[in-house]
Amino acid sequence: MVSEKMYALGSTKSCIRELFEYGLRQAELIGKENVFDYSLGNPSIPSPEPVNEAFAGIIREKGAVATHGYTPAAGAMEARRAVADELNERYRAGIRPENLFLTCGAAPALISVIRALAVGQAEIMAIAPYFPEYRPFVEMNGCKFVTVPADTEHFQIRLDALETCLTRHTQAVIINSPNNPSGVVYERETLERLAALLKKKSAEYGHPIYILADEPYRELVYDGAEAVFVPAVYPNTIVCYSWSKSLSLPGERIGYVCVPDCAEDSRVVFSAVAGAARTLGHVCAPSLQQFVVARCCGLRPDLQAYDKNRTLLYDSLRSYGYACTKPNGAFYMFVKAPGGDSRAFSERAKAKNLLVVPGNDFGCPEFFRISTCVSYEMIVRSLPVFRELIAG
Ligand code: PLP
Repeated sequence: MVSEKMYALGSTKSCIRELFEYGLRQAELIGKENVFDYSLGNPSIPSPEPVNEAFAGIIREKGAVATHGYTPAAGAMEARRAVADELNERYRAGIRPENLFLTCGAAPALISVIRALAVGQAEIMAIAPYFPEYRPFVEMNGCKFVTVPADTEHFQIRLDALETCLTRHTQAVIINSPNNPSGVVYERETLERLAALLKKKSAEYGHPIYILADEPYRELVYDGAEAVFVPAVYPNTIVCYSWSKSLSLPGERIGYVCVPDCAEDSRVVFSAVAGAARTLGHVCAPSLQQFVVARCCGLRPDLQAYDKNRTLLYDSLRSYGYACTKPNGAFYMFVKAPGGDSRAFSERAKAKNLLVVPGNDFGCPEFFRISTCVSYEMIVRSLPVFRELIAG
């Protein structure tokens, strides 16, 4: 016998993975150049060169034994110190190494925090459109997953709708900016208004409602957009970060949870996060990646290629008649499906070997997502298909 819930999760693939694997099969049949795969959010630019040099250099300099050994569960002090210094330099954030718990990416960081907050009838809120994995992360840890309907015009936050979703069981609100799938960055004003609302409601309920800031795309912003450091706006913020996207290291699995001192019960929350990570089998984040981060956490990606893709896709799709809010972050675009049914549109596109993700699992069934971390040449070749699809 096995757990039915776990069986259900493991025996079905996410819609994104289904499409991606379909694309690989199609490429074998009709040639890679005839498949236009916009499904996955896998970075398409190489890691900055110093990152690749650090990988080789660290083993040479530290020696294999010191490089590959276990580190403390929360991470090697040199890595935590480097990350804290960098945050303080950028945001005057007052972060100490002791506020940081290094993880195998943002996903286990999020799960550890959710698990740490899973008390009683805990509710964890997400704002549509949201990363589909939030649902299993929340529900499989015994919490209720509450979703706030999207602001489909600007993809900011509908605070009136969010307010009606808050209850005294609300433990945390997950925010993800720059956002997957909309590509939109929440404006400072939006976050300040959210902060004021959560402060008021926390006082009313007599316990903190935390913001869980999921920030793997923090460094990916365009047109001068500001990715706000959320604890500076709302002290009861726990940050989950990763270098998967910013340093193009998604397979290397390195990120962190930051519980700043300004968050209420900071040390207690930090210990509960460490305990939750322990129940997930966390021993330490990969040691080599920790040492890379110690040297490279201040590096920024070269966003030119993503920016060029974003501009070409946005301008072209708009000129064909598609409706879309211009993304100013991450590497996604969230486009209104002609006809309003993104599943039907995605099927029609698939028949022409154009793979776009329906928005249903993101909480917005009338939109589809395209990942703009693809080759420019593929975009150019795919444009006639987008044009044909909207023509009818
Ligand atoms: N959160 C969001 C919004 C994401 O898009 C992703 C990955 O695509 C993650 C979390 C997980 O990131 P990681 O690879 O660091 O676990």
